[in-house]
Amino acid sequence: MRKRALERDDYACVRCSRTKEELGRNPDVHHIVPVRTFAESDAHEKADAHFLENVASLCIACHRKAEFGKISKTVLRSLIAD
Ligand SMILES: [Zn+2]
Repeated sequence: MRKRALERDDYACVRCSRTKEELGRNPDVHHIVPVRTFAESDAHEKADAHFLENVASLCIACHRKAEFGKISKTVLRSLIAD
């Protein structure tokens, strides 16, 4: 899953386009809808969170912003859609 997301995003942050080489490591793979949301839902299993449209490759700085809700889910989805 993680590897497929990185391959789709060319091992670069989908938001600022910094590459694996520029970052010195692979970008993080961020869950747009958090795994815990699926885990707490009666209608879903925790494993349901792991689908390609729910993950985005992000560098550490952008990942932190996403975790603090500074990048909306709508924006993240649009970034991985193209
Ligand atoms: Zn970034």
